[in-house]
Amino acid sequence: VAVQALPDDIRPAIELPTSDAPVTIEARNISKQFGGHTALHPTDLIVRRGEVVVILGPSGSGKSTLLRTLNWIEPADDGDIRIDGESLPWRFANGRRVRRGDAAINRTRQRIGMVFQHFGLFKTYTARENVALGLIKLKKMPRAEAFAKAEALLTRVGLSKQVGAFPVELSGGQRQRVAIARALSMDPVALLFDEPTSALDPETVNEVLNVMTTIAHEGVTMVVVTHEVGFARRIADRVVFMEAGRKLMDLPVARAFSAEAPERFRAFLRHID
Ligand code: ADP
Ligand code: MG
Repeated sequence: VAVQALPDDIRPAIELPTSDAPVTIEARNISKQFGGHTALHPTDLIVRRGEVVVILGPSGSGKSTLLRTLNWIEPADDGDIRIDGESLPWRFANGRRVRRGDAAINRTRQRIGMVFQHFGLFKTYTARENVALGLIKLKKMPRAEAFAKAEALLTRVGLSKQVGAFPVELSGGQRQRVAIARALSMDPVALLFDEPTSALDPETVNEVLNVMTTIAHEGVTMVVVTHEVGFARRIADRVVFMEAGRKLMDLPVARAFSAEAPERFRAFLRHID
């Protein structure tokens, strides 16, 4: 997707909350290029404990790149990321930064859960097994305990009757709820969602948005990339707007959806309505 360059005179509208909740994710000056194309210009993102940050923006504006650098799926070219105050470790290889392949980085990355557009469940495993797998393999939890925890998590996302079902027996919305339960299983300090409802049939979108709303109200720290503007208005504490690899807006939700918001964001809203 070709992205138009922005005129230099566009000033971002940024006002971070003054809340004194501890900072869960602190990304400073992170940037990313792909083969000479800047997908993400140097960007800061601060997410406090319990906050829900929704990222909106046109396709190709760098939303996924920003999200993926936060848990180091995609190492940022520059900048720093701290999760609960702990820096994500990296090293240089051939002049580029790469993830350190050691236990420390894996532990840190496990503290951030991720939910993708495509659910990534194991087809030959039941819902319960899909959720329990990380607990058994990564957390070394005894099987019986892991299965009990998996069932409790599946109940939390409204799937108590589907614990023994295989992915093929579940609707898209149910599969995505299994993926959310799986992400929650690792007791993450935050969950990142990259367009979690974009691959779903319209009739199952709401069941996933409702589960996300429930866990947000339970206090789970979340960063959500979505095109569901109505959902963003209901759930977000803060709204970030990306365009052409830049964060053009980062405002408390009430101000983001007011006449004070930057014209480019208001034009975006008019365009997708
Ligand atoms: P969004 O999620 O907002 O649609 P992305 O973060 O996926 O945007 O992409 C931002 C820009 O970076 C786009 O121009 C896209 O083509 C490019 N890009 C993203 N990932 C890659 C990649 N792995 N390789 C090359 N270019 C990429
Ligand atoms: Mg994307």
